[in-house]
Amino acid sequence: MAELPELLVLAEQMGTELAGKTLADVEVVQEKCLNLPPAAFRQNLVGCRIDRVYNRGKWIFLDLSQEGHLLLNLGMGADLLYYGPGQAWDDGHRVRFHFDDGSGFTCRFWWFGHAHYCSTPELAGHEPTASLGPLALSDEMTLEWFSSLFGKGRRRVKAMLTDQKRISGIGNVYIQDILFRARLHPTRPVSGLSEADVARLYHATTGTLREAYEKRGLAYEKDFYGVPGGVTMDDFLVGYREGKPCPECGATVAKIRTGSTASFICPVCQPE
Ligand SMILES: [Zn+2]
Repeated sequence: MAELPELLVLAEQMGTELAGKTLADVEVVQEKCLNLPPAAFRQNLVGCRIDRVYNRGKWIFLDLSQEGHLLLNLGMGADLLYYGPGQAWDDGHRVRFHFDDGSGFTCRFWWFGHAHYCSTPELAGHEPTASLGPLALSDEMTLEWFSSLFGKGRRRVKAMLTDQKRISGIGNVYIQDILFRARLHPTRPVSGLSEADVARLYHATTGTLREAYEKRGLAYEKDFYGVPGGVTMDDFLVGYREGKPCPECGATVAKIRTGSTASFICPVCQPE
């Protein structure tokens, strides 16, 4: 499932490739992923120029001329794939966006994928994106701001970091090594963290995500051109490595249940 590093790469590539192009047609195969009836969705989009592409959390925003916004969420296991003029497109798409120069892109949603249209006045009321917290790799993500999330309450540190309303872009993949690098057990209550714990967690978060972004994201995810990223399973320290030795102390990495998700920890380096 794509997280922040993959989505940053995708949004950058989409911005470079699509800015200035005008939507000529929209073909909807699966209506369920839309927030409007297909005819209205298409009518709002056709004739709009793409001005800017960026992501907030796991949503990709395409700002359009005529005060419109196309919002895409890959859900689980989806991809957005570009095709150039005259190039064949993938048949497995749920929605296809076609530009006036003959290029376009397909969305292959598998589960929980969305393609929404909002006008600028409606954007603040778009529920899935309106409440997203700052991006985990952004200018807003300072140590001072990050520290303000901690100190009070009984929430667990993993639940806090993966709560998209607090801080957006971290899911169940990168959180594993973030917590390992910070030497924190996923179920540690946030109120029990010292200033030093929080500072370590901040650097572990930004460091892990930045390194993955520099490697163009996960090897099992594709970018806008169908090219896989460079982060392989061997790059993880404890994530998805149950039964293997901890790279720090040699103890056996364990897979444990934390709420509704699985966590991978070194029981020695990350005591409960
Ligand atoms: Zn260890």
